[in-house]
Amino acid sequence: MTTTSPFTATVLGIPRIGPRRELKKAIESYWAGRIDAEALHTVGRELRVAHLTTLAASGLDSVPVGTFSYYDQILDAAAMFGALPARVADIADPLDRYFAAARGTDTVEPLEMTKWFDTNYHYLVPELGPDTAFALDARKLLGELREAIDLGVPARPVLIGPLTFLKLAKDSEGNALRRLAELLPLYQELLRLLAEAGAQWVQIDEPVLVTDLDEVELALVEHVYSELSAVTERPAILVATYFGRPGPALPVLAATGIEGVALDFVYGTTVEDVVGTPALSGKLVVAGVVDGRNVWRTDLDHALATLATLLAGTATLVVSTSSSLLHVPYSLDAEAAPDPTLRSWLAFGAEKVAEVALLATALHDGTAAVSDELATARAALATRAIDSRLRNDTVRARLSALGPDAIRRAPAADRRVLQQQRLHLPLLPTTTIGSYPQTPAIRKDRAAFVKGELTAEQYRDRMRAEVADVIALQEKLGLDVLVHGEPERNDMVQYFAEQLDGFFATANGWVQSYGTRCVRPPILYGDVARRQPMTVEWIGYAQSLTDKPVKGMLTGPVTILAWSFVRDDQPIADTARQVALAIREETVDLQAAGIRIIQVDEPALRELLPLRAEAEAAYLDWAIESFRLSTSGVSDATQIHTHLCYSEFGAVIDAIAALDADVTSIEAARSHMEVLDDLNAAGFSLGVGPGVYDIHSPRVPSTGEITASLREALQAVAAERLWVNPDCGLKTRGPAEVEESLRNMVEAARAVR
Ligand code: GLN
Ligand code: ZN
Repeated sequence: MTTTSPFTATVLGIPRIGPRRELKKAIESYWAGRIDAEALHTVGRELRVAHLTTLAASGLDSVPVGTFSYYDQILDAAAMFGALPARVADIADPLDRYFAAARGTDTVEPLEMTKWFDTNYHYLVPELGPDTAFALDARKLLGELREAIDLGVPARPVLIGPLTFLKLAKDSEGNALRRLAELLPLYQELLRLLAEAGAQWVQIDEPVLVTDLDEVELALVEHVYSELSAVTERPAILVATYFGRPGPALPVLAATGIEGVALDFVYGTTVEDVVGTPALSGKLVVAGVVDGRNVWRTDLDHALATLATLLAGTATLVVSTSSSLLHVPYSLDAEAAPDPTLRSWLAFGAEKVAEVALLATALHDGTAAVSDELATARAALATRAIDSRLRNDTVRARLSALGPDAIRRAPAADRRVLQQQRLHLPLLPTTTIGSYPQTPAIRKDRAAFVKGELTAEQYRDRMRAEVADVIALQEKLGLDVLVHGEPERNDMVQYFAEQLDGFFATANGWVQSYGTRCVRPPILYGDVARRQPMTVEWIGYAQSLTDKPVKGMLTGPVTILAWSFVRDDQPIADTARQVALAIREETVDLQAAGIRIIQVDEPALRELLPLRAEAEAAYLDWAIESFRLSTSGVSDATQIHTHLCYSEFGAVIDAIAALDADVTSIEAARSHMEVLDDLNAAGFSLGVGPGVYDIHSPRVPSTGEITASLREALQAVAAERLWVNPDCGLKTRGPAEVEESLRNMVEAARAVR
């Protein structure tokens, strides 16, 4: 088969934190003053050079550049367009100014951070206001382009598109798109500069095109890409969409003068979308057939079939990943999976690059050229399809035996009476969200345990001592519902994943969450089953130390899935039900151990919400069902709490009511109780604990402030339903500020009572 493609194999972006988290370490050393800017830049340059040469050597004939970042690509775009907030303008050093915008200083508030579409990556939200004066400073991107060209790498600069940049920004007038006319000339100028610097192609990322756009916005798509393609001296333009299907934006985009589009064939785009868009003929289609955000080996035969159909219907085709590889770990090289069979089912970043190259070869030179590799891949997939660890018939039988009553409890009002008889709580009960400070001593002990320097027994004794301290502190402060403090948990998802069948933890599968923060999501590969109680010993111990109720803490099924790499061989709803069953079994055991209140945290409820409204109902169905399955196995006298955070609850407010938790604690300190009004509007009539102070800052709230906040909440909620708590867990805070803040909180609750 021949093709006129200018290139054949690429990826949309790559991880940047370093295969051994070198960049994270260097940046943190720079912040701590241990290395200077030059040393940091050296680490950055070495990593970029290593990335570029590896990608080119792996067979990619177009390599993305400019996706490297010291913190975040959206912050980089804000810096490039002169859109850093005015409050950092006085900081003379550009690197320090950049980091001040990212993470704040003693005197400067950082930019807000929020979730990047439906991924676990967080970007910084640009702030646009009257004092934002866009101005182009393309030195970073041009420098990285030159670096790649000098190395002889076929470089393709990548930038965030103007529509995505503005739609993600926060505008002082609530309409960032009004600034488009100021921004477009800078993009046009940038295209000229890139062409001058030798770029043949430029990739402009517009993931916002896979979300619901209104007519005005669709018209802007047409406008922006007509204007940009009208620039005479410019690289060929590839507009990249990912994380879903561009839908109505695709024909609009295709009708402009751009030269190509990147489409995500793993998450939604279909061959029919392409064939049904005649304006795409003659344009380059970059087909994302290798999953850029999950860790499974690609079904190459399936991908080849998609590519072959596309090739029949379009002229020029490039093989690619569905999205940037930012969301997967670097390479399996650093990984000793539990066994070689399991490992053979996986593909991390480097393996995905190899898959892309292989597919391109198969497509253009015929499958015979890579028959050995195809056979190996087929064999691996075949072992996955029949592996006995994927199926747990006991779990499946237990789930199918559950009838509709398994997700129902008695009416909330009846439960309330039963629970109150048992708990005797005062009005405005005080509690916390679960974790207490993870002190350096706790972290040190855990590290020593992992290294084998502490025995399991020594470690357990140390953590029990922490639990005892936390219980004593809460007794002293006079809180009403106590917690054990979660000292034994490394992470609220990993802790459970380590104890459940069907998961395994990676040794080095680090993924950037934001800035220098990396996470190691567990891999959920098979049917999930609980082997034995996971938390009962800890919480039972805490309860043995006090007469007050101790709240048992569990992580909910939605959050466990959201923060893991989830198997792709069955519907996610089925996987969610299995996780829910494991949590349900745990709640039953906690109850049997005398625990009267159980909290099932779902901080990720909002973040898994699909990017398009049409998919919301199906998601909320399984999310709500799995939460209720987790929490409906206990008696009506056991009080179920849940905790939600990361704001913007508007879209899921009905779902919160449908969870039917007796008490919902919710991050509200920063949204000024707006969420209470929203809950009322949705007819929510259960217990609610709007966070009365912000735990994201070390500031100690005064009694007066918390009193005011409670009085405000009482405007919206009857006293019988109101709970008093901080807005999230306390694990990142220091012990001294926690003690003081909670003392003020208890005092405020007493005053208002
Ligand atoms: N129970 C958890 C804690 O207190 C909840 C954390 C969260 O909301 N992300 O840390
Ligand atoms: Zn929280």
